[in-house]
Amino acid sequence: MTGPKHSCGVVGISADFVVAPSLYTALMIIQHRGQESAGISVFDGASIETLKGNGLVNLALPKDDVRDLLGHAGVGHVRYSTTGSKSVVNAQPLTVMTNFGTVAVAHNGDITNFAELKDKYMKEGWTFLTDSDSELVTKLLGKYMTMYNDPVKSIRAAMGELDGAYALTILINGRLFAIRDFYGFRPLCLGRLDGGYIAVSESAAIDALHGEYVRDIEPGEICEITKDTFKIYPAVAQHPRAYCMFEWVYFARPDSVLDGREVYAVRRKIGEILARECPADVDLVMPVPDSGRAHAIGYSCATGIPYEEGFMKNRFAERTFIMPDQKQREQAVTMKMNPIKSTVSGKRIMIVDDSIVRGTTLKKLVYMLRSAGAKEVHVRIGSPPIIAPCYYGVDMKTRDQFIATKHSVEEIREIIGADSLGYISIEGLVEAIGFKETDLCLACVDGKYPTNIPGEVHRFQTNLREDFGPSAGTERFN
Ligand code: AMP
Repeated sequence: MTGPKHSCGVVGISADFVVAPSLYTALMIIQHRGQESAGISVFDGASIETLKGNGLVNLALPKDDVRDLLGHAGVGHVRYSTTGSKSVVNAQPLTVMTNFGTVAVAHNGDITNFAELKDKYMKEGWTFLTDSDSELVTKLLGKYMTMYNDPVKSIRAAMGELDGAYALTILINGRLFAIRDFYGFRPLCLGRLDGGYIAVSESAAIDALHGEYVRDIEPGEICEITKDTFKIYPAVAQHPRAYCMFEWVYFARPDSVLDGREVYAVRRKIGEILARECPADVDLVMPVPDSGRAHAIGYSCATGIPYEEGFMKNRFAERTFIMPDQKQREQAVTMKMNPIKSTVSGKRIMIVDDSIVRGTTLKKLVYMLRSAGAKEVHVRIGSPPIIAPCYYGVDMKTRDQFIATKHSVEEIREIIGADSLGYISIEGLVEAIGFKETDLCLACVDGKYPTNIPGEVHRFQTNLREDFGPSAGTERFN
């Protein structure tokens, strides 16, 4: 598997008004899902116009240019990728022209059979401009539109070839579709606006547009959206679900509701369960802002231990996670976070964060707290140890990146310099999210994958040599 890994954000709106400003608003609301580039495509009655650029939404999409986009149906995208070129050529929506009009696609997720499909189609003479799986998705839709001149049939045919994670908003001329892969890895929900309908990665965007949440797009469904209504084309194959647990733990906004579970409520529950599973005698509970905030509130409420905001976060600092070298990442943590001395000095402190990947952040923070006079520093983590790569759209790619593949919890405690370290258990996490374990993708914490990934264990695999084809558990269709 190659190509950029990305957990992005997508949106599509069809309405009786010009949609570009609303698409822009929705993209601002899901900005946390991708800061590398942003784009909007609209159908203006004759053709699809696209505006996209690098950087945050307000830089990538100048307001005057957005005002020039006059369509009543459109799609938008924010991109978060750490590998692959940062060139604007990778920005989405991507468009292709066919004999029957233009197709514009916004994609969130990773296509796991991308390399095979790309290879297959290159042998057939296709050429590609990028190394991105989203380009393949777009060209595949273009191919089937040319063959069938029927959007739903074309989308179904493309879905029949694609494996892995994809939440898509698609504009085919003036027709808007929202689709979700058969496992539902990435979120996608539907809302009603005053004069239209919206499909978007996170429900918080529907709130911002004063809309009303209608339902989630179910795994495998194709939803056609018009200004007046929506139509569901049901999934043609059934798989066990595999909602990504990391959306609730870290990735999505706390005010979003994903598949009926509010992110904030799940995070608070994680904190409560952490309090039950890994208690500690401390004077105060502090979050690692912003990612550990709701978890820490849950911990504090469950135990009665006072909650304090003991770190000041510089909201203008760059993101540390994606920096290429360790020294830079460590320095960046210092630039990003500073303890409030009067709060921490002389105290036994618990800090709560959502996850440990390399351990860089917590090692530095524990050190800072001790330097600021903390008497004890205890650490609690809202996800189980991350031990396996994500092939479905979260940027956690190689095993050697994860501190927990090489070290026990006790060793990690020692490395980060904490007095105690506790992770939530897998059972505790499943309880907090409130779905059955078999409805969740927990691959990054249990190493068992919902789809067939060469060299990895399938979650329903009993025999190591057993072959789970990409279509395991379902019938293929075209
Ligand atoms: P680390 O410092 O490498 O242990 O990274 C853990 C921190 O990065 C946590 O505070 C998380 O909130 C954040 N984080 C975890 N996964 C990701 C990701 N895929 N992209 C960006 N940040 C992440």
